[in-house]
Amino acid sequence: MATGFQLGDIPVDVIRKDIKNVHLSVYPPSGAVRVAAPEWMTMDAIRLFAINKLGWIKREQKKLRDQPRETPREYLERESHYVWGRRYLLRVIEKDATPCIELKPRRLDLQIRPGTDIARRDELLASWYRANVKQALPALLAQWEPRLGVRVNRVFVQRMKTKWGSCNPTARNVRLNTELAKKPPECLEYILVHELVHLKHPTHDANFQSLMNRVLPHWRDRRAMLNELSLRDEDGERHKPQKSRASGRQDLRLSDTEMRKRY
Ligand SMILES: [Zn+2]
Repeated sequence: MATGFQLGDIPVDVIRKDIKNVHLSVYPPSGAVRVAAPEWMTMDAIRLFAINKLGWIKREQKKLRDQPRETPREYLERESHYVWGRRYLLRVIEKDATPCIELKPRRLDLQIRPGTDIARRDELLASWYRANVKQALPALLAQWEPRLGVRVNRVFVQRMKTKWGSCNPTARNVRLNTELAKKPPECLEYILVHELVHLKHPTHDANFQSLMNRVLPHWRDRRAMLNELSLRDEDGERHKPQKSRASGRQDLRLSDTEMRKRY
């Protein structure tokens, strides 16, 4: 059941769940606030909890407001599209033939059947970007696998909403975001190396950091390049809160015992 209250001019949604911890989240893009609370917690206690976190809520909302937004693409003539960090102007060619995409010196030619809608144009471009990432992978893997002394089982390239990449060290699989093909090539290399290093060190612990520093001393610059150009983070869920994604949902969690003590 969803209810809620106002915190000054901030509406707060409250969702009751069969959970142990109270969970406060600020959601992009608008900074909507939601509290997921255990069934037993009183509304007064939830309100008090939220009031105590007001400073944090406002800071997270400000971060979201300050973020540069990528405007959604419409796949229209002369729209800007990025490929490996360079800007190209889209040229839409309507032709009753198999759709295809071709990169020209300053143009990205999108040949589609007449009447192709935005969703389909988007799909075509996404699969083309995906092919670009896949094409860049063999050379990068040939360089980095021996250097790091790791073997990856499979690399999947797919659309991901909130992450640039992820790694499953047990299955030895790496997932990369299709949209890396829009960023400078150093960004793809950085994310791939980051995920490959996870095959050795699954968390972002001191060992992970020191290996990253050794093999890619300027990785922080590359991360800054990615963050500057977009809204995502490498693999946010494993990041410590102070480094956490400026873009994704921001969460605060209090443990059951901590909360019972305080409220
Ligand atoms: Zn990571």
